[in-house]
Amino acid sequence: MSNSAFQVRKCDVLILGSGGAGLLAALAAYEADPALDILIAVKGLFGKSGCTRMVQGGYNVALSDSDSVENHFMDTVRAGAWLNDQDLAWELVSRAPGCIRRLETVCGAFFDRSPDGEIHQKAFAGQSFDRTVHKGDLTGIELTNRASEQIIRRGIPVLEERRAIALLPDSGAGGRVAGSMLLDIRSGEFTAVNAKCTLLATGGGPTFYKYSACAQELATDGMAMAWEAGADLCDMEMVQFHPTGILTGEGLQITGTLLEEGLRGAGGHLLNGRGERYMERYDPERMERSTRDLVARAGYTEIKEGRGTENGGVFIDVSHLGADFVRKNFRGMVDRCADLGFDLAGAPVEVSPTAHYMMGGAKIDTGCRTSLPGLFAAGEDAGGTHGANRLGGNGVANSTVFGEVAGREMAAEAGGAPFESFDRGSAEASVEEALAALGDGTLLIPSAPRSRS
Ligand SMILES: Cc1cc2nc3c(=O)[nH]c(=O)nc-3n(C[C@H](O)[C@H](O)[C@H](O)COP(=O)(O)OP(=O)(O)OC[C@H]3O[C@@H](n4cnc5c(N)ncnc54)[C@H](O)[C@@H]3O)c2cc1C
Repeated sequence: MSNSAFQVRKCDVLILGSGGAGLLAALAAYEADPALDILIAVKGLFGKSGCTRMVQGGYNVALSDSDSVENHFMDTVRAGAWLNDQDLAWELVSRAPGCIRRLETVCGAFFDRSPDGEIHQKAFAGQSFDRTVHKGDLTGIELTNRASEQIIRRGIPVLEERRAIALLPDSGAGGRVAGSMLLDIRSGEFTAVNAKCTLLATGGGPTFYKYSACAQELATDGMAMAWEAGADLCDMEMVQFHPTGILTGEGLQITGTLLEEGLRGAGGHLLNGRGERYMERYDPERMERSTRDLVARAGYTEIKEGRGTENGGVFIDVSHLGADFVRKNFRGMVDRCADLGFDLAGAPVEVSPTAHYMMGGAKIDTGCRTSLPGLFAAGEDAGGTHGANRLGGNGVANSTVFGEVAGREMAAEAGGAPFESFDRGSAEASVEEALAALGDGTLLIPSAPRSRS
């Protein structure tokens, strides 16, 4: 193979990533037009990769007669410091009820129920109503497994362990995105996928911070590719930190992994190294149920001002809720802590703010269209919906709701439209650049980022 050799494959709709956004986009595109040639390419393993599978607490949606999409909307824009794109925020809250019903009825996802048979909704921070739908405290596994099964059932092809490394411009002057270059992580081979519509659903993943809660294969690839291709981005200066990442020791990969927000929602206390409930200083009204930006900053301030724990953290304490209650309602968190040698049900556990979510991303309209024709973005790859601070529970709602929107819009656009071939020179350049980054094979440090085209 010469340095710039690659195979070529065609499809109508190319979906990059198989988290909530990618899975739901594929299902929606298929439902809109089963004759479409849909292809999913995933950097990780299908059904096992990304942050959606890691979702613990749950999914915000207004379902109760005592709640409303208007309330959900107001909570979302207040939490976002009014910096949200309000059209996107409205799409999120108004489409979430239909989406959760389809997750139940089309995918077969099973959520916890109240004794009256209704879907149980639990408390999350920063909300005026307890509207977080969940499956215990490991909701993402249920969502990902059930949606993945439906992809397999429909025979939608999936390329696993293929990393999209660049978007491919069309060969004409239309400024259209005509697919993506994929690197097969196992074989090192390249495939240029020529597509009518391409979806960025590669998630976020601020994994470049010392502590990060995210799936470790993520590296904001989609945003980088969008920027390099010339798409408009927004809100890139805002990264969300989650207040309660477990501290297990320097250099251990699992440090930063989450103890979910429902623990604070259920009445958990945050204590500094002196045993003080420090949220009294920062938000005496809402205390631990304040929004995550505020709670994360409060914890950081305590640590930086010398009131942290010996290991540079603070404590979360749920022991006063009763061991039986904690074990029953937070089994996943209890097991995770036990694996690490901590007794969540019986004693305080040391935590620290941890990098969690990219508020920014590709700028999209309410149909998930980016500023580049042919390129769509959904989920954490797209910015704007959450403004300055995402509510816990709005992340997976965002990826699934906008995944569905993108799938439908791409199906409408791709059906019947002619193929635009990609620019071969750009495709060759992307391969050469990927290979050049390896140097002579002894130094695995990437070269300087490409300049924006
Ligand atoms: C520990 C944890 C707990 C969370 N808990 C909650 C919660 O309780 N409620 C909530 O609302 N939100 C929660 N979130 C946030 C939520 O998981 C995300 O907002 C949402 O799932 C993102 O979905 P996505 O489809 O955009 O991306 P992801 O689910 O992250 O999927 C990204 C996909 O893209 C693939 N990919 C990455 N790069 C490439 C590439 N270059 N080429 C091809 N494929 C690529 C990945 O392998 C993966 O398949 C949590 C996040 C974490 C990390």
